[in-house]
Amino acid sequence: MRGEEPALVEALKVRALPEGSYDRLLDFLRLYRDAVQMVVDRVWGLKAKLSKKRLHRLFYNDLVSLGLRAHHAKEVYVYAESLVDSARGSGGRRPVLRRLSARVDRYDYRLDLDSMTLTLKLHSNYEVRLKLVTSKERVEKFRGWSNYELVVKYDKGGFWVSVYFKRAVKPSKPGTVMSIDLNFDNVTLAVFTLNGRLLRLKRFKTPHRKVLTHRIWAERIQERYSRSWRYIRGVRRAVERHGERIKSISWDYAHRVGDLVAELALKHRSAVVLEDLEKLRENGKRGRRFNKRLGLWFYRRIQFCVEYEAMERGLEVAKINPRGTSSKCPRCGGKLVEDGYRVLRCRKCGFVGDRDVTAAVNLYRKYVSKHPRCGVLGVAPNAPKPDEAPSGMRGNENEAMTISTYMNLYGN
Ligand SMILES: [Zn+2]
Repeated sequence: MRGEEPALVEALKVRALPEGSYDRLLDFLRLYRDAVQMVVDRVWGLKAKLSKKRLHRLFYNDLVSLGLRAHHAKEVYVYAESLVDSARGSGGRRPVLRRLSARVDRYDYRLDLDSMTLTLKLHSNYEVRLKLVTSKERVEKFRGWSNYELVVKYDKGGFWVSVYFKRAVKPSKPGTVMSIDLNFDNVTLAVFTLNGRLLRLKRFKTPHRKVLTHRIWAERIQERYSRSWRYIRGVRRAVERHGERIKSISWDYAHRVGDLVAELALKHRSAVVLEDLEKLRENGKRGRRFNKRLGLWFYRRIQFCVEYEAMERGLEVAKINPRGTSSKCPRCGGKLVEDGYRVLRCRKCGFVGDRDVTAAVNLYRKYVSKHPRCGVLGVAPNAPKPDEAPSGMRGNENEAMTISTYMNLYGN
């Protein structure tokens, strides 16, 4: 969404009943799955990340000759590449597709919210009409939104579609700035006035340990049955069950925190400042702050919900490159070194601060240096006295941290 108008994206997931026989749509889903698998297998062997152009050159003709439409072909190779990319990123094996599911571009379907029908363009110029099984009220919300892509699935004897809708949002003018620092075990947020006074600090604990435990269990099973786990039903189910638990724990948490954070931001009319997690990969520092085993997806999911909930409340959301935010002194710009549990110290000026709060302060500073409309900002902050160390900030429960220690960071 970067570089474009801020937009909200939401999916409408409903059951869909084909008018007439199921066969054609099932054929399409099988063809689609096999096509994705074919591309996955070939890309996997190439050991390099391919550009869209290259993917197109390599696969387009083959895919179209299977009977797929132009946009189907594009969806297939883009999806296959993303599967390979994420499997490689997490050190996994070559993806093997089982489920029947297809992503369909908006050029390949027509949605009629009045009659609640969906017409899908399939392979070989076939079309299928589906009735959406849901209430009018649920659909009503999306009038005036634009739909752009959908996913159609066959699961447990029925078809499901998720139609993705987009709506442009115009954020209101912020009265304060909330910066959010995401860590392995906690989410730390700080609210500042536009002239740099700290109003509020809050920390939420993440359920990383629960998620990791399920992850480790699943990995143990996979290691023990390294060759056979996919093919033994009971073993595969056990692995899947851990996966489902991970999914539900992390989504529940992300939704809850997203809601809490956005409510707080709304109360303070904050612009919400998040770290740009995409930049972390380039910085090569993700290992220290995030758990590699957990992967960035967990943190992305939390951010996704925070961003979504904030935008839905009409708040501005900004993403800032986190480079240097946990290593630079917010007072003098010097290098920070670790000084005990969660505490950082500046060798140059003697600044001492809680690691996560310092990161939030730095994130805030980076944001305001890029948004000079905040007036007074950009002026160097007054130094806090060295004895203003955050002694009350240890611990990792959802406590509100002592504000006074950071209160004067930006002068009075
Ligand atoms: Zn310093």
